Amino acid sequence: MSHLRFNALQEVQQRSRIDVPSPSKKVSDYFGELIFGYEQMRNTLSPEIFSRVDNAIRKRRKIDLETADSVAAAVRNWAMAHGVTHYTHWFQPLTGATAEKHDAFFDPHKGIEALKGSELTQQEPDASSFPSGGIRTTFEARGYTAWDPSSPIFIVDKTLCIPTIFVSYTGEALDYKAPLLKALKAVDKAATRVCKLFDRDVTKVTASLGWEQEYFVIDEALFAARPDLVMSGRTVFGHNPARGQQLDDHYFGAIPTRVYDFMKDFEIESHRLGIPLRTRHNEVAPSQFEVAPMYEEANVATDHNSLLKDVMSKVAKKHKVKVLFHEKPFAGLNGSGKHNNWSLVTDTGINLFQPSSSARENLQFLTFLVITIKAVHDHADLLRATIASAGNDFRLGANEAPPAIISIFLGETLTAVLDELENNGNIKVEKGDNLYMKLGIDQIPEIILDNTDRNRTSPFAFTGNKFEFRAVGSDQNVANPMTVLNLIMAHQLEKFHEQVSIDIDKGKERRLAIIDILREYVKASKNIRFEGDGYSENWVKEAKKRGLSNVKDTPRALDFLVSKAAKQLYNETGVMTEVEIEARHEIMLENYVMKVQIESRVMGDLALNHIIPTAIAYQNKLIQNAKGLKELGLDNSEIVDDIKTISGYIIDIEQAVMAMIEERKKANKINSPRDRAIAYGDKVKEQYFHKIRYAVDKLELFVDDKDWPLVKYREMLFIR
Ligand code: ADP
Ligand code: MG
Repeated sequence: MSHLRFNALQEVQQRSRIDVPSPSKKVSDYFGELIFGYEQMRNTLSPEIFSRVDNAIRKRRKIDLETADSVAAAVRNWAMAHGVTHYTHWFQPLTGATAEKHDAFFDPHKGIEALKGSELTQQEPDASSFPSGGIRTTFEARGYTAWDPSSPIFIVDKTLCIPTIFVSYTGEALDYKAPLLKALKAVDKAATRVCKLFDRDVTKVTASLGWEQEYFVIDEALFAARPDLVMSGRTVFGHNPARGQQLDDHYFGAIPTRVYDFMKDFEIESHRLGIPLRTRHNEVAPSQFEVAPMYEEANVATDHNSLLKDVMSKVAKKHKVKVLFHEKPFAGLNGSGKHNNWSLVTDTGINLFQPSSSARENLQFLTFLVITIKAVHDHADLLRATIASAGNDFRLGANEAPPAIISIFLGETLTAVLDELENNGNIKVEKGDNLYMKLGIDQIPEIILDNTDRNRTSPFAFTGNKFEFRAVGSDQNVANPMTVLNLIMAHQLEKFHEQVSIDIDKGKERRLAIIDILREYVKASKNIRFEGDGYSENWVKEAKKRGLSNVKDTPRALDFLVSKAAKQLYNETGVMTEVEIEARHEIMLENYVMKVQIESRVMGDLALNHIIPTAIAYQNKLIQNAKGLKELGLDNSEIVDDIKTISGYIIDIEQAVMAMIEERKKANKINSPRDRAIAYGDKVKEQYFHKIRYAVDKLELFVDDKDWPLVKYREMLFIR
C-alpha cells in the first residue's frame, strides 16, 4: 500500500498544467449555446405554438400533445445541428446523484432520426433501482419521468438532456424536483395574494435562489490512493498537518495554478450550458474553494447546481484532479457548505426583501420580512430536517458552521425597527407618514449600510435584500431546503392574508390591520431571532432556555419530517401526501444507514488490513532495535516504551473494530428504519469512529513515514 502512496506522490510531481485556451469569443457570445430554453423556443417555434408553451410555463399547466410534437421537432433539429445523436430524460432521484437513460434519435423501423412529442414529455425509465421508500416494490417498477418546460433542455456529451420530474406510476413524487415545483407554485399564489394588498398590478411572484458552492480539490492520484475517499468521500483517518488553516492565508489568496486551470475550464463549460457563474475564490481551508453564480429562478437554479456538480466532476478528470463535495472530507479543517441566498420577486420587478426609500413600500417589505421570520419560527424543526445528512452531521456545530439550532440574524437596524413595531404597540396612529415614522419604517433604507455588518455564524441571516440559509450541506440537493422554505412561506402568507381579510371586512383600515398582525407575529416569533455568536457555547445554553431545538444527528432530525405539524403543512398546501412524506423519510434514513455503514466498513478494512500490519512491522523493527541495544549493554527503555505504546494502540484498534462489527451486525437485524439508523448513529458511529481514528492517527505519528500506507493530510492538501 505504501507503494501506492509513493507512486501517487511521484505521479503528482510529474504533472503539468492542462492548458485551457481562452475562448476567442466573448462570454456573451457563447453563453447558453448548449441550451434550448425559453428564448430558443421563442425564436424557433411558431408564434401560436410558442404562446401555448409560454402559457403552460407561466400557469404551470400540462402541454398538449400537438404542442409537444412541434417543440420536439424544433428541439431535435436544433440538437442534430449540434451533432447530437441521443436524448435522455434528466432527473434528480433521491439517491442524491442525477440520473439519465439514453435513447437514440435514430428510429431503426423508419430509418430516420426522430423525437416525438410524447418522447419529449414522458418516459418510463426502468426505475427499479431508484429509492422509493416502499412506494414501488421492485417487481412493479413502474415510474415515469415528465418534462419540466420551465427549465432549459441542454446538451452534454452529444446527448440532449431533458429536465424532468420523476414520479411513481401512482403519481407519488420520487425525486427532488416534483415537490419543489409544487412549493414554488404555492408560494407564487400566496405571495401574489399578499402583494395585491399593496399593489393590484402584481400577478406573479417568483422565488430566486443564488447558491454558493464550496468544495475541495485534490490530485486524482492521491485521491485514488485513499480508499476511504474513494468509498465514502471523506477521510476516516489522517493526522492533522503541522500547518492547517491557522494561518488563514489560503482565504482569498492566489488560486493554485492547476486549480485555476480547472476552474477556468469548468466555467467555460458551465457558461455554454447557461449556468451564470460569476464568482470564484479560495476558501478558508487549504485546497478548499467556492463557486457562485448570479441568482436565478429557484427551480432553474436548483437544476443548475446539480448540473454544475456533474460538469465539475467531468472536467476534473481532464485536469487529473478530483472534486470533493462531501461536507467534511478532512477532520480538523473547515467543512464545506452551500449557502442558499433566497428572495421573492414580483413580475412588476420588486424584490420583496428590498427595503425602499419610500416608507409606504417599506410596509410591504416589512410584511414579507416578518412573515418569513414567523414561518421559520413556526417550522424551524422542519427546516432543520432539510439539512440533515450523514455528511452534514460532521459539520453543523463543529465551530466552523452554524449549529443545528435554527435562528435568524437581522442586523442592528432591522432589529431596532422590529423592536419599535413591537413596543410601540399602543401608539395612537395619526394620519399619513406619521405612522411610518413612529414605527421607524421610514428609516429602513439604512440597513443597506448595515449590510456590511455580517454575521457569519447564523444559519439563517438577512443580508440586505435577501435571506441566506447557510446551514445547507455542500453535497446536498438544494431542492429540499428550497421546497420547505418556500412551502412554509406560502403557508404563512396564506394565513396572514386570511387574518388581514377578516379584519378589513370588519371595517379596520388596511394599513392598521396589516401592522397589527405583524406586531403579533413579531412578538410570537421573537425567540428565534439571535444577533450574537452562533458558534459559542453560550448560545447553545441560551437557545435551550428559549426552548429552541438543537437536534444534532440526522436520524432524530428526520423525525420532524414526519411530525404531525409537518404532515398537516404538506397536506394543507398540497405539496406532498402522507404516503410521499413517509416514503421520503424512509429513503433518507436508508441513505443515512448506507453512508455510515460504508464508512464503518472502510474504517474496519483499512484498520485491520493496512494500518495494523504496518504498525506490527514497524514494531518488529523496534523490537530488533531494542534487542540490539540490550546486547550492547545500552539503555533501551525508550524504545521499549514506544513498543508498548504501539502495542496499546494496536490492541485498542483491534478491539474497537471487532466491537464495531458486532454493533453493525446487531443494527442490521433491526427492522424499523428509524431504529436502525439510530443504532448506526449512536452505536456504530458515536461509540467507535472516534476511538478507532484516535488510535490510528496516533500510530501515524509513530510509524516510519516511508512505511505509512495512507497518503497523509499534508500531501493531499498542500501538494499541487
Ligand atoms: P456573499 O457575500 O455571501 O458571498 P454575494 O453578494 O456574493 O454574497 O452573493 C452570493 C449569492 O447571492 C450569489 O449567488 C448572488 O447571485 C445571490 N444573490 C444576490 N442577490 C440576491 C437576491 N436578491 N436574491 C437571491 N439571491 C441573490
Ligand atoms: Mg454567502
